Amino acid sequence: MRLFEGTPFDIPPKCDHCGLVDNACKCTSEMKARIAPEKQTAKLTIEKRKKGKTVTVITGLLAIANDHASLLSQLKSSCGAGGTIDGDNIEIQGEHLSKVRQELSKLGYRVRP
Ligand SMILES: [Zn+2]
Repeated sequence: MRLFEGTPFDIPPKCDHCGLVDNACKCTSEMKARIAPEKQTAKLTIEKRKKGKTVTVITGLLAIANDHASLLSQLKSSCGAGGTIDGDNIEIQGEHLSKVRQELSKLGYRVRP
């Protein structure tokens, strides 16, 4: 029972994610944890790995706030390379700074450098 429930002063709680009232909201708790891409900054680095392999590493994006699985598949197909999710980081095999930057900014993310 809320303070003003049933009165004209009653404002039903709304979902922060979709803006609908709680009864109409179909968001999962997972979706509510998502953060808008415009509010996040991805940091791109190139790392040298064993056997002279190079990977493009994306840090700064939390796995809980983003759909890392779909980000990864999107980046893999646009770079034409393999990749993996390592906790909050996304790794794409090879050097793909400009492609990755382009894809992420297209989705609305801020990208550094
Ligand atoms: Zn919602």
